[in-house]
Amino acid sequence: MVRQPQRIIEAALINGIGPVMARDLLAMPENRWGLLRDRITDRRQGKDGLVARCMACDSEVYIKTARLRKMSRPLFAHYSGGDPDCRWHHGRRAAPDEVRAAQYQGRQESNFHRLMCEQIAEVVELDERHIRHTIAKYLPPTENKHGRYPDIYVEWKGCGAFAIEFQLSGTFQTEISARCKHYEYEGIPLLWILFGIDISAVVQQSFLDVIRRHRGNAFVFDPAAIAASKEQKTLMLTCYLQNAEGFDAPKLVRFDELTIPRSKLPFHEDRIVTPLLAEIERRRRPWFEALADWDHFAPLCNLDRQQGLLVAAAFSIVATANGKERNYASDHPNIRAMLNTYLHTGTLAPYTNLLTRLIANTSMVDLLGTTVGDHLRRHSAEQLVDEESSVEWRLLKHLLPEALDAVIRDELKYLDALPGWAITTNVSPPRPFQVISPPSAAPA
Ligand SMILES: [Zn+2]
Repeated sequence: MVRQPQRIIEAALINGIGPVMARDLLAMPENRWGLLRDRITDRRQGKDGLVARCMACDSEVYIKTARLRKMSRPLFAHYSGGDPDCRWHHGRRAAPDEVRAAQYQGRQESNFHRLMCEQIAEVVELDERHIRHTIAKYLPPTENKHGRYPDIYVEWKGCGAFAIEFQLSGTFQTEISARCKHYEYEGIPLLWILFGIDISAVVQQSFLDVIRRHRGNAFVFDPAAIAASKEQKTLMLTCYLQNAEGFDAPKLVRFDELTIPRSKLPFHEDRIVTPLLAEIERRRRPWFEALADWDHFAPLCNLDRQQGLLVAAAFSIVATANGKERNYASDHPNIRAMLNTYLHTGTLAPYTNLLTRLIANTSMVDLLGTTVGDHLRRHSAEQLVDEESSVEWRLLKHLLPEALDAVIRDELKYLDALPGWAITTNVSPPRPFQVISPPSAAPA
């Protein structure tokens, strides 16, 4: 039988980011769309996050996942109660109760759950820093309206409190969001421990959602972790680190050696930010190398001279924003003189909108208030390159995504990992120390 083709929402408008097409979403790596998915759900739960709206009917949408050829693929979907007349509407979702019923199948899981809680309680008590712990007891709020019932809650001398939640077979994304945000606001680190994850098979979406919140770390309390905890008299966990194909071989980690970011979801190694910044650096490295001894005339990596000068000017802006003033585009003593000259002669005139966007999204934003800003306005060509169709714009967006790719820029901001050169607000302490990982492909 041939199934009715489902209509899909072809584009959504995400606040702070702009329009995102369904095909953009499909082209994103899993962690990129996954973070958007998390944050849209967070917002829907009334916490800080993102609002996404269907571009046909303006009602709110979220990112749902569908399995296709064993891969989890993202697509926008209306929340139930969205506009039924929307031309991209594709019918009713299953009622949450039906799904919930299917999810909590049986008491076996809850018995196992109870045993695991007791097992954790037993090892946290071995640590001399242990002050007290509770199992599934009400924890009154300090910042939120309501309290919660963490599976395990521990207070430690010297390292504050810690909450642990066990992720059962299919906790809802909304539930995951609610708990993550709750503990973030309370300022209590939350550790999700996964039950029965099988990393040799396709890992289910609800696990992946939790793993991403922990920056690509999957924590398990398995027999190896129990044995190590007893031996070291503290809470040890088995940690699977996500890589491009699946997961690394497991490692034993101590709970008190994990990094705790602003989200309060600890990790052993950041498998989201680190690979992303490394990948961007890889894209840029050959360009910095080519620019280092460019004579301002010969074709730069197969570009014509005007395009080459644009790239050289853009990289000069970035290097200078990074505190290492460079002028790759001319012999002028500084980038201001270089930019003003090329704008005045018309060489960079087709790119004034691109250069303005770039400068506005770097620590060099103040340039726009100088003669450079005047020149950008005055010498703007009639035919400007645009973001959608120009080769130059696409190239620079790819090479300098921290400033020019709205989705990546926003993601790095959210993860507190936007490099100092791409931060526009005036930060008082010296910039290099604000940065988690500065682009080392910038010239030394
Ligand atoms: Zn719609």
